[in-house]
Amino acid sequence: MATATRFSKQEFRQRFSRLQAKHRRLVMDAMGNPPDHRNVPKYLWEQIEKEEAAAYLILMTGVGLQSLQIHSRGVERKTGGAITQVELRQELQRQSIKRARWAARQTTATVRRKLQQIIEKLPEPKPTPKPEPARTPAGRPAAEQRPVEKPKPAVKPEEIVDRIWTPSRRDRIIDNESVAAVTNGASTVVEVAKKKKLEVFHIWRLGTCQHCEVCPLLDRTDESYWGDVTSGPPLHVNCCCMTVVEFGTREELVQSGKLLARFPSEAELLAAIRRSGWKL
Ligand SMILES: [Zn+2]
Ligand SMILES: [Zn+2]
Repeated sequence: MATATRFSKQEFRQRFSRLQAKHRRLVMDAMGNPPDHRNVPKYLWEQIEKEEAAAYLILMTGVGLQSLQIHSRGVERKTGGAITQVELRQELQRQSIKRARWAARQTTATVRRKLQQIIEKLPEPKPTPKPEPARTPAGRPAAEQRPVEKPKPAVKPEEIVDRIWTPSRRDRIIDNESVAAVTNGASTVVEVAKKKKLEVFHIWRLGTCQHCEVCPLLDRTDESYWGDVTSGPPLHVNCCCMTVVEFGTREELVQSGKLLARFPSEAELLAAIRRSGWKL
């Protein structure tokens, strides 16, 4: 496992850019010209998914360890040494692998879907025009005859893959998975503490970015409230929320203002999710 201090997001970005460029090239070559998504073999998609998962794991582990350091600060003291760093690192690794695989499945499926959509919307390649049949339908007025369509220029395979493997896709993935990795750091501490039967709470903290209407409802609520809906931030693309770990009783945490005394009703939450359109 890489150490937290050695992980550099900048370096990761460069590495991930190279991986994207490689996948873009592989898919473009497999599609052929005229481009057809059906020419991309299954094993290539599987390779892409595996390589993306491996890349995400580097990010999940690197950012996750930094997050774990923050969230486990004082854990040993608070828990009387019940939780060790070894256990925490093992749990973080388990969660990181799970998330990296899940994210790679999502992002690869999205790419496949997008590629198919783009290609299906392309104009049909024009067959070579057949000579006009000798007999025309009797009495057909000239006005009904279709105007001759000008053939549209063929779309180059480069243009298609460039619409998919964009820098914004790369940055969106990195931002999203970084937020997920921070959550993993917190949920690692929570999971290990729960196994030790310690009183622990996994609490949502609203980020300072632009919000949807769902995230504010989750602020200062704990996993017992949102756990069925999400495994934690990011709730959606560009969600900058995070979670924190708190030890103590519910009463103590409410008293100190870390937990809300009363959570928004489930109906209110579900209605906000519906309106937001998030597929949770
Ligand atoms: Zn939100
Ligand atoms: Zn949020």
